[in-house]
Amino acid sequence: MIRFDILTLFPELFHTAFDASLLKKAIEKSLIEINLHNIRDYATGRHRITDDTPFGGGGGMVMKVEPIARALDDIIPDRDNAEVILLSPQGEIFRQETAEALSIKRRIVLICGHYEGVDERVKEHLVDREISIGDYVLTGGEYPAMVIVDAVSRLVPGFVGNSDSVLYDSFTNGLLEGPHYTRPREYRGWGVPEILISGHQKKIEEWKHERSLLRTLKRRPDLLEKLTLTEEDGKLIESRSKLKGISDS
Ligand code: SAH
Repeated sequence: MIRFDILTLFPELFHTAFDASLLKKAIEKSLIEINLHNIRDYATGRHRITDDTPFGGGGGMVMKVEPIARALDDIIPDRDNAEVILLSPQGEIFRQETAEALSIKRRIVLICGHYEGVDERVKEHLVDREISIGDYVLTGGEYPAMVIVDAVSRLVPGFVGNSDSVLYDSFTNGLLEGPHYTRPREYRGWGVPEILISGHQKKIEEWKHERSLLRTLKRRPDLLEKLTLTEEDGKLIESRSKLKGISDS
């Protein structure tokens, strides 16, 4: 079981995300637990202010350090075994490996910034790491937090009915996954590859592996550079690299 604690100014944004589909099932099966904390509840004063204008000027509002620090003191008083993550476009880029590494943690705390971001002292003193979901700027860390919860949760054993399907997912073995087809066999004259309905399981596996390799070669050659290929795979890639317009489906 992984426990996620999400600190946000907008907890309502998460409700539909966690109340449907496989994440909902994972919560029901107690594979994951998600606790939403409104940072405003930790703000003091009559107006419970959570953000303020930046020192030194410049536009926008900056989220204050105290409510976040107080929330962390309350949620993880001894900080034991908790990975505290600030969502930030300036953080390390979130990848499948990051999700894998996080999936063995017991407790993950996600802090969602908003507006111009958070007071730098949150980064300096309160978090273990900063994670970005890509090189673009969003309104807040709420969607990135959902992305992380989703990607990490589906790796928890028992999450997906068939654990094999996770094993062959894109990136897990360093490759993109090949194409999928389902019934009907023909639609508007669009067929499916014969091999998939041949019943030759071994040949089907070979075909899938080949498609996966070729698709990666065509779409993400950078991923292949990081892999040590078997001799056979290497030859296939070499022969196809010479051809223009590789078909990957
Ligand atoms: N002024 C900041 C951007 C603030 S965006 C800068 O230039 O770096 C507001 C908040 O949205 C951030 O604090 C962060 O929590 C979240 N956010 C925006 N883009 C993100 C991304 N690509 N990955 C993760 N979090 C992001």
